[in-house]
This record gives sequence, structure tokens and C-alpha cells, in this order.
Amino acid sequence: MPFTLPALNFAYDALEPHIDSRTMEIHHTKHHQAYITNLNNAISGTALENQTLDEIIKNMDMTNNAVRNNGGGHWNHSFFWEILQPENKGRLSGPLADAIDAAYGSKETFMEKFAAAAMTRFGSGWAWLCAHKDGHVEICSSANQDNPLMPGIGCGGTPIAGLDVWEHAYYLNYQNRRADYVASFWNVLNWNVVEEKYKAATK
Ligand code: MN
Repeated sequence: MPFTLPALNFAYDALEPHIDSRTMEIHHTKHHQAYITNLNNAISGTALENQTLDEIIKNMDMTNNAVRNNGGGHWNHSFFWEILQPENKGRLSGPLADAIDAAYGSKETFMEKFAAAAMTRFGSGWAWLCAHKDGHVEICSSANQDNPLMPGIGCGGTPIAGLDVWEHAYYLNYQNRRADYVASFWNVLNWNVVEEKYKAATK
């Protein structure tokens, strides 16, 4: 079965003014779709054709650039859409709030460190909040479409939140102002989904 573009849980304009409608539409229907098309082409007729996306990512042959870049692109974007939501729904609580406090002292300090990871990722890539099996959380970042689940990338934990810092994710609305885009992320992050991902990653 070739991979297909997942539907969003919200309309393209639902994240405005933080992420604009045109950016969302191009990001989803052009950028994400291109990763899927290229991934399908890259795995067609190979043993990878019968693997799940998670299996492909976790067992990635890091020398296979077509699968690494496009498989990563498909995984990362599918994940990103899942953790976004229109404003003011869900807030950080429970065991994840405790884990963030344990690692960073406070939610505010965590947000600063996450923003720093997003800002210091030179060029294109992602900032991640990952959970380790023992429950502790860790911020890391990756280049291009790499992902912490891939061998030797990031902190080696399981992503539970992530931010796309490729210019295609923000340029129409924010131009070169990546910091403003990063700051806006907290308005559209669905903490309820992040908490679910934390539970799944640590059980
Ligand atoms: Mn992107």
C-alpha cells in the first residue's frame, strides 16, 4: 500500500493568526505531499514497501538519502499536524507537567530552552521534545527531515512534541522572523495530544 496524505483535524485557517491559512495549505498539500510521493517512489519494488512508516524510520539505513529525507518528511509532518490545534484548548498538566518540571524546573524555562533549540538549529530542521522510557523528557533538534527515532539522531527518545523550523513553515507570514514563529507555537500546541504521546512513550 503506498503512503497517502493524512487529513488535518482542522481547517487551513483554523490556526490563524499564528499560522496562516495559505502557509498551512501549501505546507500540507504541496510540501507534505511531495515527501509522500517521493517516499513511495523510493520504496517501490524494495523490501521497505511492506513496512510501516515507524518501522522504516526506526530501522533507517542512514545512507539511503531518498528514504531518509522523504520518509522523515512524511513522519515529521504527519506528527506535526497531529499536535497542532486552534487556540486555547488543552493545557499542560499531570505526569508530563511533573516530568517537565523535573527536567527544567518550570514550564517557562522549558519553553525558553525549546525556543533556543529551535533558534539555534541552523538552516532547516526540527526542534523536539522527547520522552525516554523511564519517564524523563529531553529537548533536542535535528537537521533537515531527520528524526530522533532514526539511528544516531537527536537524543534518541520518542518525540512527543516537535516544531518544523524549515522556512516553508513560516516564511509567508513571518519572513525571516523565526523567533516570532517559534513564540507563536505555544498558542497552537495541543498539550492533550502531547500528554497522550508521553503516556504511550513511557508505558
Ligand atoms: Mn515542513
